[in-house]
Amino acid sequence: MPAVHSHNFDNPGFKGVSEIPLGLYINGQFVDGKDGRTHPVVNPSTGKEITKISVASPADIDVAVAAARKAFDTVWGLNTPGHIRAKLLAKLAGIMEDHADEMAAVEALDNGKTFFWAKNADISASIECIRYYSGWADKIQGKTIETTNAKFCYTRHEPIGVCGQIIPWNFPLLMLAWKVGPALATGNCIVLKPSEITPLSAQLFAKYAHEAGFPPGVINVVNGFGHDVGAAIAEHMDIDKVAFTGSTLVGRKIMEAAAKTNLKKVTLELGGKSPNIIFDDCDLEAAVDWAAFGIFWNHGQTCCAGSRIFVHAKIYDQFMEKFVAKAKQIKLGDPFHPETKQGPQVSEAQFDRIMGYIESGKADGATVHHGGERFGEEGYFISPTIFGDVHPDMKIVKEEIFGPVGVVIKFEDDEDVIRQANDTVYGLAAAVFSKNINRAIETAHKLKAGTAWINSTNMLHHAVPFGGFKSSGIGRELGEYALANYTEVKAVHIHLGPTTSVA
Ligand code: NAD
Repeated sequence: MPAVHSHNFDNPGFKGVSEIPLGLYINGQFVDGKDGRTHPVVNPSTGKEITKISVASPADIDVAVAAARKAFDTVWGLNTPGHIRAKLLAKLAGIMEDHADEMAAVEALDNGKTFFWAKNADISASIECIRYYSGWADKIQGKTIETTNAKFCYTRHEPIGVCGQIIPWNFPLLMLAWKVGPALATGNCIVLKPSEITPLSAQLFAKYAHEAGFPPGVINVVNGFGHDVGAAIAEHMDIDKVAFTGSTLVGRKIMEAAAKTNLKKVTLELGGKSPNIIFDDCDLEAAVDWAAFGIFWNHGQTCCAGSRIFVHAKIYDQFMEKFVAKAKQIKLGDPFHPETKQGPQVSEAQFDRIMGYIESGKADGATVHHGGERFGEEGYFISPTIFGDVHPDMKIVKEEIFGPVGVVIKFEDDEDVIRQANDTVYGLAAAVFSKNINRAIETAHKLKAGTAWINSTNMLHHAVPFGGFKSSGIGRELGEYALANYTEVKAVHIHLGPTTSVA
């Protein structure tokens, strides 16, 4: 393996040497990009460079796609039975498990999330996701369909072919696992682009997939920028499907590119501005805890973050007091320190963007109940921020901030709060807090969102589908539902009657 660089992590979370390959993983080898470019990977806790990593150009995508196509036609696709795919995926999950601490440390270093959550959410859920789809690999089945006595019909669920997968930076390994798991289980080959901001865990993933023994070309990991390499994937004539997780803005570009080229299949997991409705008959302490988890977990860089918190007028003051107290307890700092609950935002650009929203909220006359400022001298830390006295037209109420910034909105009427909650272009997730299960279920059913939580927030599971209504996306990831994103249905008609046709 050329282009290998090693790192020595010296921190409370992980002690050891992590060999991270820094080349592009194409056709079973780590290689330099065709034009030899690299770019720096930055530690957001300090703003300092960790290492340099190869960057692909569109020409590298051509090579990766050709390798994937060849693998699909010769050794993978319909050539490898499901139980072999299952075995390889299970082996990969096992190798990842053996390296869970290392992967968590890399994620914390590269993204800034706490080592605790990296290990106990990102990495553990990624391993479980890969293992879950290893279980599906030999259970991809069609149907037999009754038509007439003279005919026998059945369907086959065949792999689509070469799939482009484009990943964001907020859950770098987990978003990769959600895509790679169902794609490989169903027999597809992959050309995957991690976010250029957080490429390291995908490099480790490629290394472990190599170790697990996937044939060359089945998995290709090509770090690069969105505007050229991401676009090259979306436009490629020999990519059959593209799965994208990221912003709604880029999601639109992906669809346009697919429409203008080969009409490749498109699935999109996009942004959100999720409502969290807290009724007066809730368990207040629990609602405060979950609301804080909903907006501040992963530093607010969560697509389904409960960023619009609607609180019933009868409990608004009590809620706000407790919510602010909760935010005050969130300890910011080194992601590897066991007491740290919130690390830095992922990059300087994101830091600036979030601070811009905070300033707009202040300028629009909203009240800052907590935070609203930079934390510390170095890195990209922002204090958990709570706005009150907001208006529906304010940018901080309408737009996805993707940072630790929640707006709290007072309401009095059940129907009116449902109308307000649904008054958004997004529809990714929603939460409802009430001890009255009828009221909670009725509200959950009226909310236009792909996920509705009752008395919790941000809880996901690999067996349960996730995706968006409205501008939050197209298609569903996870669970059995995701398999449909990665298979083509072929109907086979067997004529059993007389040999003559109807003509
Ligand atoms: P982004 O859209 O800027 O980038 C996502 C990926 O797309 C990156 O790999 C980037 O390099 C690539 N990209 C950028 N421009 C491209 C182009 N023109 N063509 C092809 N690819 C391109 O998003 P981000 O900032 O990395 O992530 C944050 C966004 O992701 C938020 O809006 C968040 O809500 C969303 N998100 C959604 C989910 C979900 O499941 N719905 C999960 C995580 C994140």
